[in-house]
Amino acid sequence: MKVLFATSECVPFVKTGGLADVVGALPAELCREGCEARVILPKYSAIAQKYKDQMRYIDNIYIKMGWRSQYCGVFDLKIGDVTYYFVDNEFYFGNDPIYGDISVDVERFAFFDKAVLALLQIIDFWPDVIHCNDWQTGMIPVLLRAHYPYDDRYNKIKTVMTIHNLKFQGVYDKKTIADVCELEDSYFTPDKLEFYKDASFLKGGLVYADYITTVSKTYSREIMSDYFGENLNGLLSAKADRVTGIINGINYEEWNPGTDGFIENNYNLRNFVSQKKLNKLALQKQFGLEENEGKFLIGMVTRLTGQKGLDLVECVMDNIFENGDVQMIILGTGEAQYENMLRHFEWKYKGSLASLIMFDNAASHKIYAGCDAFLMPSLFEPCGLSQMISMRYGTLPIVRETGGLRDSVEPYNEYENTGTGFSFANYNAHEMLGIINYAKKTWYDNKKSWQAMVKRAMKSDFSWANSAKEYIDVYNRI
Ligand code: ADP
Repeated sequence: MKVLFATSECVPFVKTGGLADVVGALPAELCREGCEARVILPKYSAIAQKYKDQMRYIDNIYIKMGWRSQYCGVFDLKIGDVTYYFVDNEFYFGNDPIYGDISVDVERFAFFDKAVLALLQIIDFWPDVIHCNDWQTGMIPVLLRAHYPYDDRYNKIKTVMTIHNLKFQGVYDKKTIADVCELEDSYFTPDKLEFYKDASFLKGGLVYADYITTVSKTYSREIMSDYFGENLNGLLSAKADRVTGIINGINYEEWNPGTDGFIENNYNLRNFVSQKKLNKLALQKQFGLEENEGKFLIGMVTRLTGQKGLDLVECVMDNIFENGDVQMIILGTGEAQYENMLRHFEWKYKGSLASLIMFDNAASHKIYAGCDAFLMPSLFEPCGLSQMISMRYGTLPIVRETGGLRDSVEPYNEYENTGTGFSFANYNAHEMLGIINYAKKTWYDNKKSWQAMVKRAMKSDFSWANSAKEYIDVYNRI
């Protein structure tokens, strides 16, 4: 089975969120299962020089973009079993941000999607399946059918469209999309690309892909409802027999408390109690919290957007700190309103709350290792990786029961001594506060149960092996 992953981000080259982690890990796992998996992504200027130095130039072609013709170079680089291809164009990918304004991104990713298909002839890799990820690659299934109808090499290719986050759809005006994608008017009807008078990349991918996957079972059902469906629930319901949810794994080499080079004290199932304490003290010291291992320390590592439940946190922040027995450390960047909210509360609760407004991988590892609990009260969560990482580090998650959070965290049952974390059902700040207080009480008053739960969480299987097998089933089915 030959699979080409088309993606706008991929660890270790560029990352803004979970998509990069997924495409950074799944292809290698598929190779281990006997597939030949390769990856293609843009050659952004933001990619670290050490990777650029290892890339090998293959060739270049020109891609028609409306009335213009654009240079398109291709490089490759092999890491382990996986070959990565990089699409080069300074005009589209030579500036800093990976994602910019939608008006610009529509053309950048139309170019990328065209390039992926055109370059197959240059790299001479004819995949059985092109695996597309999120709206940035949504036009590939459309262009495959629209631009190569009589070429047998292309006709044989099947496509999978994976939704990592339905919120982002690549919606822009029909005329521009028709122009840069070179698609006839007949493609812009409500049963195809049209989306409320505009056109949508993601909808194109969903309509034309042979199979649709999303990143957890619960989210695959949620997106067929009005509440989570982002106006695509009708289409998704109509294709329900071709939609499946496959939970993400995490990269066990990158996220391993036993070998993690970012943390001061490595640990395992036998010595986590003493070593986590030391990591906690180091974390408190580094980020200006009162150095006291006896305080319940909650961490968050997150994009600061409405999706992540920050308005719930804001609503009950004063209640969380009112007894002086809780500390929090929050690492994130994003919307100004949340960044400012966190700065304000850091000022108000100096020594109890550390707000780290930045993207810092090393700090994230220290937080996963040093905290007691990890808060993730998302409004919606297609899969979520942070809760799995925190469980692997023995930091018990407190989550809202939605999407992948519901599928990966088993709520604590104090009577049967089961569970790997804490959860609440409704998007309600006081319901969340109730569960935070319950977790706090368990931590303070019932250390034995807490530690047994830490062990269960650390032992949970979040490796990619099972999910990779499920993807292979999907490839075989189509
Ligand atoms: P999403 O993809 O919606 O952002 P996930 O939980 O699936 O959420 O993945 C988020 C990933 O990004 C995790 O690996 C998390 O540790 C990382 N991350 C998020 N924000 C930051 C940050 N400010 N600094 C470092 N890592 C971050």
